[in-house]
Amino acid sequence: MQKKLVAGNWKMYKDKSETFELISQLKEKLNSFFPDVDVAICPPFTSIELAGELLKNSKIQLGAQNMHSEVEGAFTGEVSAKMLKSFGVKFVILGHSERRTYFKETDEFINQKIKRAIEFDIKPIFCLGETLEERESGKTFQVVENQLTKGLSGISRIDLEKIVIAYEPVWAIGTGKTATPEQAQEVHSFLRKKISELYDSEIAMRVRILYGGSVKPENARDLFKQPDIDGGLIGGACLKADSFYQIILAAQD
Ligand code: PEP
Repeated sequence: MQKKLVAGNWKMYKDKSETFELISQLKEKLNSFFPDVDVAICPPFTSIELAGELLKNSKIQLGAQNMHSEVEGAFTGEVSAKMLKSFGVKFVILGHSERRTYFKETDEFINQKIKRAIEFDIKPIFCLGETLEERESGKTFQVVENQLTKGLSGISRIDLEKIVIAYEPVWAIGTGKTATPEQAQEVHSFLRKKISELYDSEIAMRVRILYGGSVKPENARDLFKQPDIDGGLIGGACLKADSFYQIILAAQD
């Protein structure tokens, strides 16, 4: 069992002054007590530099929400792993359902991004999960297995160590509808079994699998108690220092 990781996905929230305020509040809380949990925040690109400066000498790690698979080139509006690396970024969220849905990102593109992030020593938080329609038609396992296999295609066992997986049922993201701890555990244990088939059981035990989808202080503890849930990817509830801190504390119990 790994040390738990709680990562905050700020999405398209927080301008410069709001970034300053949220990070200052979070640091203050974590200064008084920093539990035995890995913590990362993933602000928008416009706040990466400021966040990096504010997080110097802090145990809170810096993440980003996306990147392109190429190192550089004529890709207007995009940001590369090399650029993120130069700002001290340690994690990058890849394959988030909002990117898959609104920006039509494919499993193949996500796989290329994962490989590139690893090349630049940035840990991918590789997101996957089924839609409500897929769940209701009994396709959850088939869908997540397909996303997992394609996302990890060509990735060696050594590189798998650098990847964090995040199971995020699409129907639970930003909807207030959380998967029950049992529903989440069922998929997490399935994913671990598949990783063990793709690689081996020893590495499958060590890969962190986060749960994401309407995690809040009220439900975090029960989710994190499940044997195959190694932390959370938090959206809405990470935008306030207090609720994010409560979730971080829940990950320690
Ligand atoms: C997310 O964006 O990854 C997420 C889990 O969002 P929320 O917690 O708001 O459902």
